[in-house]
Amino acid sequence: MSNSLNIVVGGAGLIGLSVALWLQRSGHKVSIIDPMPPGAGTSFGNAGVFADFARLPFSKFKTMCQIPGMLLDEASPLSIQGRYIPTMVPYGLGYAKACLPQNYLRGCYALTELLKASPKADDVLLRETGAINLVRHCGSLALLGTKKSFENARLGPMQERIEHDVDIQFLTPQQVKELEPDLADFHYGGVYYPNSRHTINPGGICQKYAEHFQANGGVIIQQEIRHISPGVENVSIKTSEQDMVVDRLVVAAGVASRYLLEPLGIKLPLVSERGYHLELNAKEQGFSRPISWLDKSIFLTPMVNGIRIAGTAEFAYADTPPDDKRIKNLLTFAKSMLGREPEIQSKWVGSRPSTPDSLPVIGPLKQHPNIVLAFGHGHVGLTLSSITGKLVSQYISQQKTSVDLNLFSPARF
Ligand SMILES: Cc1cc2nc3c(=O)[nH]c(=O)nc-3n(C[C@H](O)[C@H](O)[C@H](O)COP(=O)(O)OP(=O)(O)OC[C@H]3O[C@@H](n4cnc5c(N)ncnc54)[C@H](O)[C@@H]3O)c2cc1C
Repeated sequence: MSNSLNIVVGGAGLIGLSVALWLQRSGHKVSIIDPMPPGAGTSFGNAGVFADFARLPFSKFKTMCQIPGMLLDEASPLSIQGRYIPTMVPYGLGYAKACLPQNYLRGCYALTELLKASPKADDVLLRETGAINLVRHCGSLALLGTKKSFENARLGPMQERIEHDVDIQFLTPQQVKELEPDLADFHYGGVYYPNSRHTINPGGICQKYAEHFQANGGVIIQQEIRHISPGVENVSIKTSEQDMVVDRLVVAAGVASRYLLEPLGIKLPLVSERGYHLELNAKEQGFSRPISWLDKSIFLTPMVNGIRIAGTAEFAYADTPPDDKRIKNLLTFAKSMLGREPEIQSKWVGSRPSTPDSLPVIGPLKQHPNIVLAFGHGHVGLTLSSITGKLVSQYISQQKTSVDLNLFSPARF
């Protein structure tokens, strides 16, 4: 093993916790700093899907052409807050560049490499921490509302996924009914991903990770990182309550990472892509697995406290109050999927940390190699959390990384 280093991880979401656990496994002395309790950010509210099938970036020319129409349609999952548009400009330019065919293919390759390495990395953390008890291996469904959208998906993204080694089974509406008898007849069939897993409690996974980290000597400091000052051999950190000097800093502060780095002159096109969830009372209906309605970009996942319906892509400042229109849309879609008016138990909104090319940022800052970045996981942060931690730990411990980090370098922007 390389020398044991004194390392701070900024952020206690799924990414920061996974990074901290892998670093701890490698023998480093690790502290996590976060003003919030572990897993209280975006990692709390996701749809719970370990989406091994999510191998296609959103940055595709065909998708880009659909954006104006989606923005005009109030029922579409996509919206942009007016005052957020200036922040979106570098993201928008990066998105257009990422849509070039060669860049899109590079993105598919990069995501596929990460996703192929993910389940093995997940198993390590899930089993060691006991969080595996919160995970179910029942596959997941992706359904289409009409014959036309089914055919478009079959010949388009599903075919592409097959080409990127995703195990897919096409299902008729009757076959869907056999798998999920309580689902309403809102769809024209779809696909089954037999290998994907889901968690019934994403926040619970964070708790388990945090408990295991602390039980093994890790320290969680509930403070905010206010300022970072890189040195030649180390990094100085100013928090809301103290100054400290460490050997390495890993920035894993989700959507806030951008603002931590900007004072260093590092401008990355990371944006806040907000998603919502509603937790619904489902006493009389039982589902075994996550079910997505692809035309609406939503997931319905059975969770420990009921059914969670999650989705929408609202580009907006993270601290904006929730938009009632988005909540109403989610409820309408839930009604169609369940075939009845569900009772809302709770509502939630959170910000996906999203990049223009749908790839996370993982790796050192070229100018300041003692600062390592781990954020920008967009729609797949749960899925990619453990492999991200493993890669960061391998890099810091000077081992060969399981996946080529050049694919995710911040220098690509
Ligand atoms: C509706 C929805 C559904 C989703 N569904 C899925 C899914 O099914 N599968 C999947 O794989 N992914 C899904 N995702 C994406 C996934 O949830 C995110 O990619 C992931 O949670 C990001 O984790 P994170 O640790 O980077 O961010 P966060 O969980 O937001 O953690 C960042 C942490 O940094 C802290 N922080 C901020 N500023 C500072 C500072 N100055 N100092 C110290 N700490 C700071 C915050 O307090 C926070 O705790 C979904 C997202 C949404 C919104």
